[in-house]
Amino acid sequence: MKPSPFAYAKARSVAHAIELLAEDEARLLAGGQSLIATLNMRLSAPRVLIDLNGIGALDGIALKDGMIEIGALVRHAQAERSVEIARHAPLIARALPHIGHPAIRNRGTIGGSVAFADPAAELPACLLALGGEVSISGPQGARSVKADDFFKDLFETALTPRDVLTAIRLPAAAADSRIGFAEFARRHGDYAMTGLAACARADGKGLKDLRLAYFGVGSTPRRARNAETALAGGDVDAAVQALDRDLNPPDDVQATGAVKKHLAGVLLRRVARQLMEPRS
Ligand SMILES: Cc1cc2nc3c(=O)[nH]c(=O)nc-3n(C[C@H](O)[C@H](O)[C@H](O)COP(=O)(O)OP(=O)(O)OC[C@H]3O[C@@H](n4cnc5c(N)ncnc54)[C@H](O)[C@@H]3O)c2cc1C
Repeated sequence: MKPSPFAYAKARSVAHAIELLAEDEARLLAGGQSLIATLNMRLSAPRVLIDLNGIGALDGIALKDGMIEIGALVRHAQAERSVEIARHAPLIARALPHIGHPAIRNRGTIGGSVAFADPAAELPACLLALGGEVSISGPQGARSVKADDFFKDLFETALTPRDVLTAIRLPAAAADSRIGFAEFARRHGDYAMTGLAACARADGKGLKDLRLAYFGVGSTPRRARNAETALAGGDVDAAVQALDRDLNPPDDVQATGAVKKHLAGVLLRRVARQLMEPRS
């Protein structure tokens, strides 16, 4: 199938993109890895595409005030090669190779992935596990939204149709940071049936500030708060049992809810082992 006809405009800056978004049924184009497929299948028919590619201000990676800021247009492949991300955001570095295939990672962007908010995507769950923030510019100016408040419902976020996601900001990893990441997919590179991103700080032989963010288990990435409490207390079996109260995955094309819940427990045991390992 071919897309419905649309007009095309190249944004010169974030302010210019916001100006162009005032037009009805306008849509931002970043890496196009999700958007172009929805256009070709006519699941979406915007009147105008606003191309963000080429806005230099959106493709930087920088450490600022204890946070690592990743510009919206940073490609997955660029992030994979980044020394700053490997050092200061190791959870992101660990998740990136699981996103699709090299061709997709060469074009797909960090901002597009977070804005699209596929509930089975890796990066939204990592953002939630790290307690990060999303930087947004819109007609009313710039604002920052915490990851806990950003993902609203299926493919629905705190972004309005007039907003541009400009960057994500993540607390930089410290010496006592612990991370864990695991997912189960039919083939490497497929969207996960169930996945888990986790972050904590070492506390003697235990853990504190533990955040477990599951993906592929509902309409948004989801914290498992009861399991967090149990695991921080050192009881892995109790944490796995607590998932009954935290997660109620619906059946989808990949697996039944019961299979997803079983996988959630398996992944939690793997991630619990990773969280106990000091950073290398
Ligand atoms: C075969 C295939 C397999 C894939 N597998 C995975 C996978 O395993 N895991 C995974 O996470 N992803 C996967 N993806 C998706 C990939 O990660 C995409 O790159 C990502 O979802 C969207 O990023 P993009 O830059 O391509 O955004 P686009 O496709 O350009 O845009 C996606 C949506 O986000 C909006 N948008 C983009 N940028 C902004 C911005 N800065 N501000 C506001 N809105 C914005 C667009 O308007 C559009 O609605 C896969 C894609 C394909 C084609």
